[in-house]
Amino acid sequence: MPKIIAVSKTFPMSEILPLINYGHKHFGENKVQESIKKWTEIKEKNKNIMLHMVGRLQTNKAKYAVGLFDYIHSVDSLKLANKIIDEQIKQSKKIKIFIQVNIGQEIQKSGIHLNDVNKLVEDCRKLNLDIVGLMCLPPLNGPSKNYFSKIKEKNDELKFRELSLGMSNDYVEAIVHKTTFIRIGTKIFGERN
Ligand SMILES: *Cc1c(COP(=O)(O)O)cnc(C)c1O
Repeated sequence: MPKIIAVSKTFPMSEILPLINYGHKHFGENKVQESIKKWTEIKEKNKNIMLHMVGRLQTNKAKYAVGLFDYIHSVDSLKLANKIIDEQIKQSKKIKIFIQVNIGQEIQKSGIHLNDVNKLVEDCRKLNLDIVGLMCLPPLNGPSKNYFSKIKEKNDELKFRELSLGMSNDYVEAIVHKTTFIRIGTKIFGERN
C-alpha cells in the first residue's frame, strides 16, 4: 500500500496534532513560509515526522526548503536542482527529490514536459541529487487514468523506487497505478477556505 502524505496546507497545527499524536508520519505543505511557522518546533520534537514540500518552489526559498523539508516533490528545472545541491552542501543535509512532470502540458502548471524528463534526470543524477521518483498533478477535468499510466511507464523506465500520484479525488486510480505516495488534503482535513 502507498504511504499517505497528509497535506495540511492552510490548516493550523491544532488540527494537525491529533494525527501526529496518533503516530502519522508523512505530512505535506505547499508554502515555505507557512511551513516554517507551523513545523519548525514540532519537527524538532518529533524526529520521525517526514515533511514533504508539494508546492512550487522558488529558487530563492530553496535554502529554507532544504533546511525544513525531508522531501521536495516539485523540482522541474536544472536551476532549482543546482540551488538545492548548493544548499545541501552548505547545510550538510541530503533530502529526497521528486521531479514534477506537467503531464497534461497545461500552461498554468509547473513541471517539465514528459519529453524533457530524461534529460533533466540525467543532469540531476550527475549532480548526485537523490531523485526518488516522478510526481504529477493531472488536469482537473481528468480522467487521471491516462496521465497516470504515462507517468508510471516513465517512472519504471527510469527505475525509480517511489512515485507521487493521487489526491483526494483520484487516489484510488493512483493506487491502481502502483503509486508509492498519495497526497491527501481534503479527505483528511476537510475543505480548505
Ligand atoms: C493541495 C495539494 C494536494 C491535496 O489536495 P486534496 O485535493 O485536498 O487532497 C495534493 N498535492 C498537491 C501538490 C497539492 O497542492
